[in-house]
Amino acid sequence: MPSSIRLGTIKGIIVTVHWTFFLLLVWIVGKTLMDGSGTNAALFELGLVLAVFTCVVLHEFGHALTALRFGVKTRDITLLPIGGVARLERIPEKPIQEFLVAIGGPAVNVVILIVLVPLLLIFDLFPLKMTPAGVSWADFFSQLVIVNVVLVVFNLIPAFPMDGGRVLRSLLAIRMGRERATRIAATTGQVFAVGFVLAGLAYNPMLVLIGVFVFFGAQSELRSVLEDAAFKKQSVGLLTMRKFDSVGPEDALSIAANHLLAGYATDFLVLEQGVPVGVLKRDQLLRAFANQEMHQLYVREVMQPNPPVLDARQPLDQAWLMMREGAWPLLPVFENGLLCGILTSDNLSDYFALKMTAVR
Ligand SMILES: [Zn+2]
Repeated sequence: MPSSIRLGTIKGIIVTVHWTFFLLLVWIVGKTLMDGSGTNAALFELGLVLAVFTCVVLHEFGHALTALRFGVKTRDITLLPIGGVARLERIPEKPIQEFLVAIGGPAVNVVILIVLVPLLLIFDLFPLKMTPAGVSWADFFSQLVIVNVVLVVFNLIPAFPMDGGRVLRSLLAIRMGRERATRIAATTGQVFAVGFVLAGLAYNPMLVLIGVFVFFGAQSELRSVLEDAAFKKQSVGLLTMRKFDSVGPEDALSIAANHLLAGYATDFLVLEQGVPVGVLKRDQLLRAFANQEMHQLYVREVMQPNPPVLDARQPLDQAWLMMREGAWPLLPVFENGLLCGILTSDNLSDYFALKMTAVR
């Protein structure tokens, strides 16, 4: 079952809704009807939620379209019950560009407010009922105004992974390096996170959740920036393993399992007459083993096909990005057009750990 439903594509950006979002809609309508507030009230709530999420989508487009101006594409925008997520292909590294992309989201909500506030004032002066039951347009717009104010204020809290964290990092990065700026912004984010948790324990459990989310968001942002910095200076060739175990696509899985037990490798490059055609991952192998399909299956049926290839002279950070994006535990490395070895994510993690202990 797909976890997200595609709504459409705008400017090459896919907009999807996570299925749990529909649960939220059902829950809201159901709850209002159960309260005995009637169909009109339920429709009002439903309309309000849809309007709120339209504002959220527009906020995400604020980020995505600003990024597009700097040549950064956005893969998709997904609506979740807790808000929206725009998956940018990368964060622009120039501080001023990152600043504009980060501020682009909240800026959209400010524009929405500029439109909404006069509407609210008009409907306040000339109360127009939406329905005979008494819910008014003024109610509707005042709720939307509050939501947009919250979206601006909450997003500008200077904590990763909120927009404010990126704003702070980009401003700091103008004066110092990106690494140091990220360290400071991440620490600030974690101080806020602890504050959220403490305030949440006293007042509202929802804040505890947000605090935890922010704390780990800050940590992973810091790690990814430090990794990029550590990997940027080196080329793939440095960490390429020249000796490695491989399997063939027509090998029985039991042969791969023997390799797994007998050697130190956990994932295998699949070679067909010397050409990389796939990667056999440890978890795929174990799953097949658990389902007792080991003897009926061949490598080709469970491998992840068509791995991208790396060049030994390529910088490591590019390779790391490709591995993370495709969830590849290893990739084949070519040198002067010939397969010379593999790069594994374990090698990269070890290298990163060594680098980090060295700078400490
Ligand atoms: Zn945002």
